[in-house]
Parts: sequence; C-alpha cells; structure tokens
Amino acid sequence: MTTRKLSAGDIIESRCTKCREVLNHRIVAMVEEKVVRVECNTCNGVHNYYPPPAVKEAKLPKASAASKPRSASAAPRASRKDPAEVEREEWASLHPTFDYEKALQYDMNGRYLVKRLIIHPVFGAGIVKAVIVPNKMQVLFKEGVKLLRCQYM
Ligand SMILES: [Zn+2]
Repeated sequence: MTTRKLSAGDIIESRCTKCREVLNHRIVAMVEEKVVRVECNTCNGVHNYYPPPAVKEAKLPKASAASKPRSASAAPRASRKDPAEVEREEWASLHPTFDYEKALQYDMNGRYLVKRLIIHPVFGAGIVKAVIVPNKMQVLFKEGVKLLRCQYM
C-alpha cells in the first residue's frame, strides 16, 4: 500500500465552515473510507468534511504562445526581389532585342545615346539606360546596372 488509509483521529485538510479557510481538521467520523465529519483544529467546530478545492490546474500562460518563434515574419519574403535581381531580369528580357551588329565597343571617351547597345570588355553587352551630366551613364548589363564613364552629348 502506498497510500495511507485515513482513519478517525487523523489530521486532514478541509474547508472550515466557520473559518472559511482550508485548515487542518481532525477526522471525527468516517463512513467506510470516506471522511464525513471533521473537527477544526483552529476553531474546534465540528462539521461535515468539505474537501479543499482541487488545486487549479496551473493554466498554461498564454505568453507561451506569444514566445513562439515567428519564423514567417522574421525571414525575408522570398517573393521580394532585390533590385539587382530585377535588373538581371530586365537585361534578360531585353537581350533578345540586342542588335550586336550595331553595338559599340565601350570607350570612356565615347558618346552614347540612351538605348544604345554597347559592348564592355568586362561586363559584356549592355543597354545605356541614362546619360548623366557631366560624364557618366547608367548601363544595364547582364549582372546589373553599372555606372560608366563617358562623354556627355
Ligand atoms: Zn474552523
């Protein structure tokens, strides 16, 4: 037997009808194995046995839900493209329209018009997107937009 059987005279916790608290009571009467009457150790009142309210199951704090890792918002959205990716896609979409026969070799002393196809020794084929005063131009290459030196027209 692991549980000690209660018997009259034992001390047990009960709600006291007078003290209105859970206090130690001495068992006065039992019916079979059920405690029926107890005597309060504090006020000595004898009354029916009222088992102490069951210990409330500790409610799982709702904070535990909030502490869940929010992987969805923490990770950058895969659908959000970085500008370089957008530029590469723009180049890819323009590439079929490139007329290599009219392409110009890039020369930092050259003069270029917007939409002119140029060939750069490092970056390859690119389309002039903008010419910037006084001597620069934006060129869209396969790997993205580069700022190149040129003569302003
Ligand atoms: Zn009492």
